Amino acid sequence: MSSVSLDSVSLAYPGGQLGLADVDLRIGDGEFVALVGPSGSGKTTLLRTVAGFVSPTTGTVSIGDAEVASPNRSVEPERRGLGMVFQQHAVWPHWNVGRNIAYPLQRAGVPRAERRRRVAEALDLVGLPGTERRDPATLSGGQRQRVAIARAIIARPRVLLLDEALSALDEPLRDRLRLELRALTDSLGLTVLHVTHDRSEALALADRVVVLDGGRVQQVGAPTDLLDRPATPFVARFLSDAAIVRGVLAPGRFRAHGLPLEIPLDRIASADPRTRPRSGEEAELAIQPEHIRVIPDAAGPATVESSLFGRSGDELIVRWSGRTLRSRMPGARCSAGTRVRVEVERAVLFGPEQEPGAATAPPQEPLPEHRASTAPRQPLGTVA
Ligand code: ADP
Ligand code: MG
Repeated sequence: MSSVSLDSVSLAYPGGQLGLADVDLRIGDGEFVALVGPSGSGKTTLLRTVAGFVSPTTGTVSIGDAEVASPNRSVEPERRGLGMVFQQHAVWPHWNVGRNIAYPLQRAGVPRAERRRRVAEALDLVGLPGTERRDPATLSGGQRQRVAIARAIIARPRVLLLDEALSALDEPLRDRLRLELRALTDSLGLTVLHVTHDRSEALALADRVVVLDGGRVQQVGAPTDLLDRPATPFVARFLSDAAIVRGVLAPGRFRAHGLPLEIPLDRIASADPRTRPRSGEEAELAIQPEHIRVIPDAAGPATVESSLFGRSGDELIVRWSGRTLRSRMPGARCSAGTRVRVEVERAVLFGPEQEPGAATAPPQEPLPEHRASTAPRQPLGTVA
C-alpha cells in the first residue's frame, strides 16, 4: 500500500502561475522521500497540496486508502493525519515549550493528564526532556526546531511533511539533526516527505529522491540511481554539477561540438538503456566533475581557472576552448593557472528523445551499463 499518492496532479494558482504539472507520485508506507529542485520548482506547492492548504486543479491525492483531495472535494488539513514542520515561525513565542507541543492534542480534545504525559514522551524523543516550562526565546535554533518536530509528531501522525525544516540551521548542528531526524522517523515508522533545496541533504537522508523542475517531476529514484543514471541533462546538472556537452555520434566515438573532445563509446552509458543512439545522430552528454580528469601538461590546451581545497581532492574549474568544466577527482591537487589536458573517464548520453514524457524507442540492445564500467565492455560497434 502506498501511504501518499498523487495521481495526475496539476495545480494552477489564481494568477495563472503553474504550481504543479501532471505529477504522479507514490510514496510507500514508512518510506523517507526527499523532494529537491531549484527555487520555484514547485516543492512547497507539492507539500501544501498533500497537506491540504491548496487543492489540485486536476488529479487526486490519497493518504492511505482515503482520497483526500480532488478538484471538487478536499479533506481539511487537520483531518488528514499529518504532522508538519516548516523552516520558520514554527514555534509560537508567547507559549512555553509544553504548551506549544500540546496544542494539536488540545485541539483534538485530549484530556490534560494524557496531554502532559505525551508531551513529556515527545520531548524525550527529540532529546529535550524536562523542558516543558522553558520560554522558546531561551532556546537555540536547533532546540526550537526539535520543539517543532515534537509538536508535529505528538498526535501520532502516519505521515510527516517537512518543508526546509533544517535549512535555517548552521552546520554541524544541521548534520546532527539530520541523523536524529532519520533515526526518529524510522523508529516511529513514519512516512516522510522532506522538502529541501539542499541536494546533499536529500541524497544523504532519503530512500528515494524526487527531482522537480517547473512543477514537473523530472525523475524519481534511489540516490545512487539518480547519480548514475540521470534521466535528463537537467537532473545531471542539478544533482551533480555535470557539464552538458553537445555533439554527434561517430562510429565508435562521441565527437563534441565546439570542444576538441572525443570520447570512446565504451566510456559512455546511455541514460535510457531502451534507446540505442545511432551513428550520425546528434546527442548530449552529461559529464560529472568526478569523471573529468585533469592532468598537468605544459603543452595542454586547457587552464585551471580556480582551485578550491576539498577533503578528498581539489575542486577545479577548468577553462577549455571557451567553456568551463568542473573537475572533482579524488586525490587531485592542482593550483590555479596550471596548464592541463583533460580526459573524460565516464559520461551519460542523452539521445534526441530523452525529455520526460517523450516517446522512447522500443527495447534494443543497450549501451554498456554505467555501473559495469570496470567489467569487460561490449565492443564499440554497438552503435549502428
Ligand atoms: P519552491 O518551494 O520549489 O521554491 P513553490 O512551490 O513555492 O516553489 O512555487 C512554485 C511556483 O508557483 C513558482 O512559480 C511560484 O512563483 C508559484 N507560486 C507559489 N505560491 C504561489 C501563490 N500563493 N500564488 C501564486 N503563485 C505562487
Ligand atoms: Mg519552497
